[in-house]
Amino acid sequence: MDDRGLLLVLSGPSGVGKGTVCKALRERMPDLVYSVSATTRAPRAGEVEGVNYFFKSKEEFRRMIEQDELLEWAEYVGNYYGTPRQFVVDMLEQGRDVILEIEVQGALQVKKKFPQGVFLFLAPPDLAELENRIVGRGTETEETIRHRMEMARQEIELMDQYDYVVVNDMIECACERIQSIITAEHLKKERQ
Ligand code: 5GP
Repeated sequence: MDDRGLLLVLSGPSGVGKGTVCKALRERMPDLVYSVSATTRAPRAGEVEGVNYFFKSKEEFRRMIEQDELLEWAEYVGNYYGTPRQFVVDMLEQGRDVILEIEVQGALQVKKKFPQGVFLFLAPPDLAELENRIVGRGTETEETIRHRMEMARQEIELMDQYDYVVVNDMIECACERIQSIITAEHLKKERQ
């Protein structure tokens, strides 16, 4: 039997609430290992190095790409984001379940390398709701809202490449659905 942990990839369009759902899920499942990404974007207030992200210069990030240290990476709104590979591989080998919270391009790269992963697409209840959330942040101009909505539409078209679509109507409900999927995937793996 394969006693490695499960690789869970939580993805979905910008503004759908991946970060919030992932945080709530980690509180419910303290044994779940969160993969801390590397990024070239500047830290936001309250973000801590090594907890939220590993903050890198563009040069350092490029070096990580060249030395094949990243499981996947993507450029997103002018910055690079990527998943350090070794940590994920080590944790899985120790039998721990690992969750990546990443955007869609990166998730599809992981799928090519780790087809045995469990790919979860977090979907908005509808596009109008997504627009409300993006507008509700109050930080975007009309132009960026249009751009993000267009990106969200394109990202939603990739939904059928995922194993599961989880609708994020309420955070707690979305978490329960994901927990049920994790339980089912463990049972499936034990039978293999
Ligand atoms: P933020 O700047 O808001 O923290 O993240 C922007 C987007 O990048 C989010 O959709 C987030 O899920 C995604 N992201 C965070 N880390 C990674 C990563 O390692 N790889 C990829 N591909 N996307 C990431």
